Amino acid sequence: TMSKVINFAAGPAKLPPTVLAKAQAELLDYEGCGMSVMELSHRGKEFTKIIKDAEADIRELMAIPDNYSILFLQGGATTNFAALPLNLAGPEDTVDYMITGSWSKKAAEEATKYVKNVNKVLPKPANGFTEIPDKSEWSLSPDAKYVYYCDNETVHGVEFSTVPETNGVPLIADMSSNFLSRPVDVTKFAVIYGGAQKNIGPAGMTIVIIRNDLLGNAQAITPTMLDYSVMAKNGSMYNTPPCFAIYMAGLVFRYLIDNGGLAAYSKKSDAKSGALYRAIDGSDGFYRAPVEEKSRSRMNIPFRLSKEELEPVFLEEAAKKGMVQLKGHRSVGGIRASIYNAITEEEVSTLIDFMDEFKTTHA
Ligand code: PMP
Repeated sequence: TMSKVINFAAGPAKLPPTVLAKAQAELLDYEGCGMSVMELSHRGKEFTKIIKDAEADIRELMAIPDNYSILFLQGGATTNFAALPLNLAGPEDTVDYMITGSWSKKAAEEATKYVKNVNKVLPKPANGFTEIPDKSEWSLSPDAKYVYYCDNETVHGVEFSTVPETNGVPLIADMSSNFLSRPVDVTKFAVIYGGAQKNIGPAGMTIVIIRNDLLGNAQAITPTMLDYSVMAKNGSMYNTPPCFAIYMAGLVFRYLIDNGGLAAYSKKSDAKSGALYRAIDGSDGFYRAPVEEKSRSRMNIPFRLSKEELEPVFLEEAAKKGMVQLKGHRSVGGIRASIYNAITEEEVSTLIDFMDEFKTTHA
């Protein structure tokens, strides 16, 4: 409504304008208490209600069963690259990592500090990270403490279309960049986690959803702040939690529930990403999406121009039309459009119209 640009950033990313307006309206005086949310005691009655409501709302939104804890933590997804092996495996154990892009690669590297056998499930990709190898190529360890994967690789635009089958081995999913973008069967997972700054709220909060029977076995060296059982026992308030980020996320959860829930956003994501991929694939090679069709992300859509020297021109002209943050990740280059829940179908259409026009003038 009030924004002058379309923000296609990978994260921190666009938030629903309705949510920002509500936060603005409540900023100086939260529900008549005379203080900003940022100034409230995290143990006071107002914030206690905020965190309890946020938890109840994400539980409703994702249909999270009662035998899972929901933790609102600090440190970003990256901190959990260490916390996960520390909490769920011993130093001599074997853990399985499916590496489909740079984030799962980093997670596997971090795990090697705390667990002896970090098994790479997938063959090394021949052409960079452009697909999820077929199940017939996976080598899962029979004795793994868990299988780790990244449901959506933000940099490479590679996303799983189904939940990997692990034959009963606990499954951990990094959903940082596709959290709340579609309904998920939480019961298939041991842990779902991710940073909030893409599809949920402002940076500063990480959500960990963990099955309760997995709590309580952290390695002895685990820092208290990284021990999920300590955080679960204390309702995410062993210390001061990221109060404002929790409040903002709570507003987003409520907004998503009021707007049809995850089924509605899943449909929108399919429509938005479908339209964008069709525009790329139908451009007679002017634009090119490197990821194999079956592994394409609905959230982060990387593409190249066949004339790569035109990419800076593309970015510049897009910015002149108010479309910003379209530059691909510095590690891969090219263009990337991130289209999380807050990006509307109209905004994606505006991008597609610009792409058509750019092609006509530069082909
Ligand atoms: N995993 C994924 C899939 C990500 O996209 C990111 C951040 N871009 C991270 C992990 C790291 O998150 P953070 O910056 O919150 O540590």
